[in-house]
Amino acid sequence: PTKLRVSEAFLDAQVGEKVRIQGWVRSFRPQKQNLFLHVNDGSSLKSLQVIAPAAMNDPLLGFGCAVEVRGILKKSPHSKQPVELEAEQIWVIGECNPVDFPFKIKERHSLEYIRQFLHLRCRTNAFSSLLRIRSEATAAVHSYFKNNGFLLVHTPTITSNDCEGAGELFQVEPPGTTFANEGSFFSVPVYLTVSGQLHLEVMSGAFPRVYTFGPTFRAENSQSRRHLAEFFMVEAEISFTESIEDLTKVWKTAASDFTIISAYIFLSPLHLKDTLDDMLRKSFPVITYTEAIDILKRSSETFTFPTDWGCDLMTEHEKFLVKHCGNIPVFVTDYPHDLKPFYARDNQDHPKHTAAAVDLLVPGVGELSGGSLREERLDLLRSRLGECGLEDTYSWYLDLRRFGSVPHGGFGLGFERYLQCILGVDNIKDVIPFPRFSHSCLL
Ligand code: ATP
Ligand code: MG
Ligand code: MG
Ligand code: MG
Repeated sequence: PTKLRVSEAFLDAQVGEKVRIQGWVRSFRPQKQNLFLHVNDGSSLKSLQVIAPAAMNDPLLGFGCAVEVRGILKKSPHSKQPVELEAEQIWVIGECNPVDFPFKIKERHSLEYIRQFLHLRCRTNAFSSLLRIRSEATAAVHSYFKNNGFLLVHTPTITSNDCEGAGELFQVEPPGTTFANEGSFFSVPVYLTVSGQLHLEVMSGAFPRVYTFGPTFRAENSQSRRHLAEFFMVEAEISFTESIEDLTKVWKTAASDFTIISAYIFLSPLHLKDTLDDMLRKSFPVITYTEAIDILKRSSETFTFPTDWGCDLMTEHEKFLVKHCGNIPVFVTDYPHDLKPFYARDNQDHPKHTAAAVDLLVPGVGELSGGSLREERLDLLRSRLGECGLEDTYSWYLDLRRFGSVPHGGFGLGFERYLQCILGVDNIKDVIPFPRFSHSCLL
C-alpha cells in the first residue's frame, strides 16, 4: 500500500485506496466493538481517525505510542472529519508507558508544566503549534526583507567588540592549555555577539539595505519573563536615512508585514488574528521620552519604581505607556543621550541632551525593539568614543565615517519577544525550543 502523510489523507484523492500511515497516537478509545484512535504524524495539526475491530487491541497500544496502520481510506459518515482509516493491521513501532509519560491523555497541561520536559515538549499540541508558528514567522521575516530589497548578512557569532557596552558579555576561550605557548587563542579577548549591528554598519557602507537574523547572547542576571541568555534578533540597517520618521516607517511596515504573513497562515482560527489586525491597521503613536516621563510622573503612585528624567524605562513603565496609548504598539523617541550606546546620533538641537534613539513598546511585553540613527559625523563620534575611552578599540568604526559616511540608522527586534506579543505568551521561555538562562542550560 501507498505510504501517505496524514495531511495527504485529507486531500480526498486517496479515498477508497489501500494505504499505510505512520505517526503517534493522540487519542485512544477502546470500545466494545471497535477501537478508535487519532494518529498524528506532524505533517499538519490534523490527526486522522483510525477505526479498528476490538480484536486488534494490543496491550502496547495507547496514548503517545508510535504506530503504523494499514487499511482502506474511507469517506467518513460523520461530518466532523471528512475521511477515516479502516484499519486492517496496526503495529506498535514504539511503545509509550502511560505511567511514566509526563503528558496525560485528555489533560490540558500548562506551558509551565510542559517546560519541565524540554526534550518531550514538542509532543504536546500546544508546543508543537507554537513551533510551527515560530518556523512560519521566521520565513515571513526573511520574505519581508527579500521583498524589500535587503541583503542578508551573516554577522559573526564570535567578536572582539561589545556593541552595547552593557557588560553582559560571555567570553569565549578554548579550555585547557592547547595553545598555552601562544597565549589566548585569538590573542585578544573575544565574546559571543550581543548584537550584529556594528557588522551591519560595515556592510551598509556598500549596501544601503542590510539585515541579519540570528542568535545573540547576553549574560542577563535575571529570572525575568522577557530575557534569555540566548535569543534571536532581527536587525536591519538602512543607509541614507536622515530622520527618525524614515526609520520608523520601515520598522513599522516590517513588523506589521511579517506578522500579517505569519498570522494569516497560522493564527486565523484564533481570536488573536482580529486583535492583531486591529493593532496593525492603526498607525503607531509616537511620543518622546520626555513626554513619556511626564505621563509616568503623573501616575507615579502606580509604580514600584517611580521614575524621573534620565532614568531608563522599566518593564512596568513600558507596559503602562502601552496601555496609556490605547493598548497598541508605541514608539518612544529621543532618549537621554547617556542612556544609549556611543553610536546613537546626538540630537544637538534639543534643549535637553538626547539622542535620536527609539524603542518600540508593545502590549504584553514592553520593549520589543530598539533602534537609532547612528552618529555619522566623524568629529562627534570621535569625541564620544574618546569620552568612553574607546577610540583605539573602534578605530575601524571611525574609518566608516572617514570614508564616504552617510546618514544611516537601524533597529534590532527580539524575535522571542515578538512571538510573545503576537501569541500572548507570558514567559519568553515558552517561545524558544531550548531556552537558556542563568543556572539553566539543559540539553
Ligand atoms: P531590555 O531593556 O529589555 O533589557 P535592551 O534595551 O537591553 O532590552 P537591545 O540592546 O535594545 O535590548 O536589543 C534589541 C532587542 O533585543 C530588544 O528590544 C529586545 O526585544 C531584545 N532583547 C534584548 N535583550 C534580550 C534578552 N536578554 N532576551 C530576549 N530578548 C532580548
Ligand atoms: Mg537589556
Ligand atoms: Mg532597553
Ligand atoms: Mg533597547
